[in-house]
Amino acid sequence: MNIILLGPPGAGKGTQAQKLVESRNMMQLSTGDMLRAARTSGTEMGQKVAAIMDAGELVTDEIVIGLIEEKLSTAQSDGFIFDGFPRTLPQADALGKLLEAMGMGLNAVIELQVDDGALVKRVENRAAEAAAAGQPVRADDNAESLKTRLMEYYKKTAPLIGYYYARGELQSVDGMREIETVSSDINAILDRVS
Ligand code: AMP
Repeated sequence: MNIILLGPPGAGKGTQAQKLVESRNMMQLSTGDMLRAARTSGTEMGQKVAAIMDAGELVTDEIVIGLIEEKLSTAQSDGFIFDGFPRTLPQADALGKLLEAMGMGLNAVIELQVDDGALVKRVENRAAEAAAAGQPVRADDNAESLKTRLMEYYKKTAPLIGYYYARGELQSVDGMREIETVSSDINAILDRVS
């Protein structure tokens, strides 16, 4: 079973993906995590994308499609959770083609709906919690970058809602509620589509 978690920064995609990894033995494919790993290991690509990520802009389709293609060709799993990918229409087309070439498809695209005001608070909380725990704070978890990330989301990623709706694949979940409540809604959807 393959699913996409769609939603603005701070909607809870990573948190919900993690819960599915634990409860359903699925594999989380987060392009954000892959890009951060490339930066940490200091690859040429990692260095190239660092400033773009810190500013809250999107890196090129070519780079993220390449990362997903590479992962899909080597990873073994009963189900993939695409978290933070696709973020543009060309990425969505590319994912469809990649899955088709591998004899797979998408079972559901789950949109987490969260108010803008709550997103700012959530991202601020994430930064404060990381700092309090002595963990590194994401360079893009600040007011300035978040503004750009939200603009990028509405301009380039939100059109995917219509794209997947038209294909009959979109399922929307109210992401404003408790983590466990959102999670049980997602599980109910997955039970229906599996
Ligand atoms: P995330 O961890 O998903 O919030 O991603 C952090 C940053 O990585 C984003 O703000 C972008 O700069 C970059 N990024 C992650 N995924 C993508 C994607 N699918 N397309 C373009 N840029 C991405």
